[in-house]
Amino acid sequence: DKIFQEVRKYFWRKKNVSCSLFCFGIPFVLLFSSAQCHYSMKKAASFLGIGTENVYFIKTDERGKMVPEELEKQVQRARKEGSAPFLVCATAGTTVLGAFDPLDKIADICEKHGLWLHVDASWGGSALISRKHCRLLHGIHRADSVAWNPHKMLLAGIQCCALLVKDNSGILKKCYSAEAAYLFQQDKFYDVSYDTGDKSIQCSRRPDAFKFWLMWKALGTTGLEERVNRALALARYLVEEIKKREGFRLLLEPEYANVCFWYIPPSLRKMEDGPEFWQKLHQVAPIIKERMMKKGSMMLGYQPHQGKVNFFRQVVISPQVSREDMDFLLDEIELLAKDL
Ligand SMILES: *Cc1c(COP(=O)(O)O)cnc(C)c1O
Repeated sequence: DKIFQEVRKYFWRKKNVSCSLFCFGIPFVLLFSSAQCHYSMKKAASFLGIGTENVYFIKTDERGKMVPEELEKQVQRARKEGSAPFLVCATAGTTVLGAFDPLDKIADICEKHGLWLHVDASWGGSALISRKHCRLLHGIHRADSVAWNPHKMLLAGIQCCALLVKDNSGILKKCYSAEAAYLFQQDKFYDVSYDTGDKSIQCSRRPDAFKFWLMWKALGTTGLEERVNRALALARYLVEEIKKREGFRLLLEPEYANVCFWYIPPSLRKMEDGPEFWQKLHQVAPIIKERMMKKGSMMLGYQPHQGKVNFFRQVVISPQVSREDMDFLLDEIELLAKDL
């Protein structure tokens, strides 16, 4: 504690928060993320010495989106308490619900308070390639950094992740370079600013960018766009089918490819909505999952989430699946659960 206090005083004098961030576990450095963000934010805070307790989770609305007014409140509160907020991580496409945080409004708050805006678009970033769906990420041009996984909706071979930064003063090199003299020579015959070798945490790694480049060349931007449009159209088809069928209930109207729903088996359909109903429904998805796995017909994930009992989550991505597959999914659930 004594050391921390000294370090804290030192950095207050220096006002050099960004340096402290990477060197010490300064307890007052804070970052904000939505309550539905990916667990990697917590992990990153742990690795960086920020501490998992210094990630503030901002309330989300009923659709899973960060509430900007809550963010504003939390930032002001943190400032009043003498903490040093430095970053907001917005999520474009949350893992469970596929929700997109309101980037424009969050960017306003970041600008006002001088905070770095990172957008975790790992899952939702691929919508940018579709002219039809890119509006989901409206405001993303204001981000300081963006994480995006072409290995998700674009189906690049796993793994293929991109970190995009707005800064063009070589921030990655400043952060990560160890300037090893036996590698990364600067006196080469070409423009070495494109070398990625000394700009990352790892040393050896696969040429993932090449994989993506090759895929992009082969399919073209329209080919990639078609993948996204097709996946989202199929998700939409599934949603409409769920609405038509007795016993199926959507958690919410999805805006992306995550179709979250409950299956209410025949014995529960007449039951009154109440704690007992939900407690019983909670047990249904694990039973159906066990049956589908033992039969070997499907694999479909389920989870409880934010106070909601176990529900299925069908994320539609592959360009090889069809409407018939969506029908099969629903038929099979009905079949497996008809005696429940
Ligand atoms: C998948 C996902 C991640 C993790 O990405 P990996 O490349 O699998 O580590 C992070 N954030 C969100 C929102 C995701 O959906």
